[in-house]
Amino acid sequence: MQGKKAIQANAYYSKNFDEIEYLDEGLFCIDSEGFIEKVLTKDDENYEKVRRRYASEGQLKVLEADQILLPGFVDLHIHAPQWAQSGTALDRPLEIWLNEYTFPLEAKFEDQSFAANVYGEVVHTTLRNGTTSAVYFATVDRKSSLLLAEICGEQGQRGFVGKVAMDDASGCPEYYRDQDAQASIDETEAFIQSVLAIRNTYRQGVYPIITPRFIPTCTDESLKGLGALARKYDVHLQTHASESDWAHHYVKEKMGENDVKALNRFGLLGPRAIIAHAPFLETEDQEIMVETRTTIAHCPLSNAYFANSVLPVKDFMAKGITIGLATDISGGYTPSMYQAIRQAVISSKMLQDGVEPSRSKDLRGRAHAALTLNNALFMATVAGGQSLGLPLGKLEAGYIFDAQVVDTRENIPRFYEEKHVEDLLHKVLLLSQTVNIKEVWVQGEQVI
Ligand SMILES: [Zn+2]
Repeated sequence: MQGKKAIQANAYYSKNFDEIEYLDEGLFCIDSEGFIEKVLTKDDENYEKVRRRYASEGQLKVLEADQILLPGFVDLHIHAPQWAQSGTALDRPLEIWLNEYTFPLEAKFEDQSFAANVYGEVVHTTLRNGTTSAVYFATVDRKSSLLLAEICGEQGQRGFVGKVAMDDASGCPEYYRDQDAQASIDETEAFIQSVLAIRNTYRQGVYPIITPRFIPTCTDESLKGLGALARKYDVHLQTHASESDWAHHYVKEKMGENDVKALNRFGLLGPRAIIAHAPFLETEDQEIMVETRTTIAHCPLSNAYFANSVLPVKDFMAKGITIGLATDISGGYTPSMYQAIRQAVISSKMLQDGVEPSRSKDLRGRAHAALTLNNALFMATVAGGQSLGLPLGKLEAGYIFDAQVVDTRENIPRFYEEKHVEDLLHKVLLLSQTVNIKEVWVQGEQVI
């Protein structure tokens, strides 16, 4: 029993894209490494025996009747430094938002104590909101980017952290970029090595992720070098692609081809690569995403401000592209993946119905585009884990125990027994707030 524990809880998780699994007083047995060893349902013949064994060792936790257990969230795309400006300037176009607000802010992260303050708060805040794994862009500054990885490690969040590579003088301000392509590559390599060196210091691990900001800010030489690093170290990789009309056409003009095609040519796509946004992927781009098994990080809230369109999630998934969910702070203003789930559903519904009332019903929208809450929960948990190559997002044997305990006694109306077992889950997904999240667990340990 050394290091083992069990949690008895009413629990929900995604069985697949459409369906939810519910366990009434399920018994979740967690091994000493933080993996779920087995899950017993109340009708299992060993349930009482196992339950009593954990209880007698003082290793049984029983959730209250009004609390439910949910998997932790995977935020597939979040800019940690931009937490400092969350809620600012979202009424400006993307290129203005970048040059007038975002680049000057990110340049401040050379100041290590400023960085420590912001990074400490963003990791705590996302954990507090149920995000147990987060895929972060840091900044160009290598030292403070490493600090972010250490802060994730210490606070118990599974962080994937990238030092941002951007070196193209025509796309970056003089005061905020890598000196040249070689510096971009060398600094990224040094960063990968220092994160790999501390990777196993933390129970849940921290991971380096190669991070060319996006094609408009990177030279061909640096993209080629970063592709070579991806092959050399076999680590994760992230960037942005085909986000808005401006970004999509800027790259077309700069490269003579679409983002995805160019990224593939530089060796920057693959099963460990995550592309943020991507609503404007054309047919050939979609095929490349499928062939290379590259994931999309869907950022519905940020897209509502900057993307000039809605990602057709269901069409892309039907083609075979894996799509997870993300907050995209601070293009999206909230650190809550609950809000990302809500917005994913809202945006998809508007894509399906269309938004211009003067157009006839048949011409207004895109058929079969609407996502359900079940779909969005799957994207925020299981699909996120799939994109990272980790067993995350289900409360089943063999999965890592990353979870959140949600108390339903505040903010969620409970006047009668719900008709369907999923009704309570849907209320929680739509109505719960940060205060409802009473505990957060990562790799079998309570961190909040
Ligand atoms: Zn982004």
